[in-house]
Amino acid sequence: MKENRVLIVEDEPKLASLLSDYLQSSGYKTETIMDGLQVIPALKQNMPSLMLLDVMLPGKDGMEICKEVRRFSEIPIIMLTARVEEIDRLLGLELGADDYICKPFSPREVVARVKAVMRRSRGGVIQTEELVLDESRNTAILKGQTLDLTVVEFQLLKLLASDPGRIFTRNQLIDRIYHDHRIVSDRTIDSHIKKLRRKISDALPGQEFIHSVYGIGYKFEQVDL
Ligand code: CA
Repeated sequence: MKENRVLIVEDEPKLASLLSDYLQSSGYKTETIMDGLQVIPALKQNMPSLMLLDVMLPGKDGMEICKEVRRFSEIPIIMLTARVEEIDRLLGLELGADDYICKPFSPREVVARVKAVMRRSRGGVIQTEELVLDESRNTAILKGQTLDLTVVEFQLLKLLASDPGRIFTRNQLIDRIYHDHRIVSDRTIDSHIKKLRRKISDALPGQEFIHSVYGIGYKFEQVDL
């Protein structure tokens, strides 16, 4: 992955070039695609660092594209939508986008969001005051305690912690973590979560971070017991 390359998927040429100008003057390299059908092949050939993705596109719409991309990549995606009401729909669909921006927007706002999302996802590392995730080693430092995790445990923690308080369903966890869904059942996820929780409670007795939400799934949130 090349650092700082933003793919702009937007079929309004004026808007696309405005975004491109602002991003370039903030130090990003940009590329623009105007046809929805070209996005997936372009990503598979050369993955950018982040994608701005318009919802209404010729060929294939942004929601469909986002869903497809999440089957093979965790690239940060910021959706661009023309209507506020669409944001609710986007959120409800749980497409796995990292952020949403409503049109009309100021290009400056877009640059700020791009920077924020890049920061959050740089190198696949999440860093907050209490949690540092190191993808190259599959280790997490949670409140100063190092956890040695398996790849799956690491990915589960990373995903849950990327959005504290948000409930992820088992299917969402499976979708985002496994490339081949056929080999995974809900029970598999439960057993990985169980092991991950045990590692956390061994390292930090009396504190709980991963909570099961009955009948739905799991969330990350710190609670002192
Ligand atoms: Ca459009």
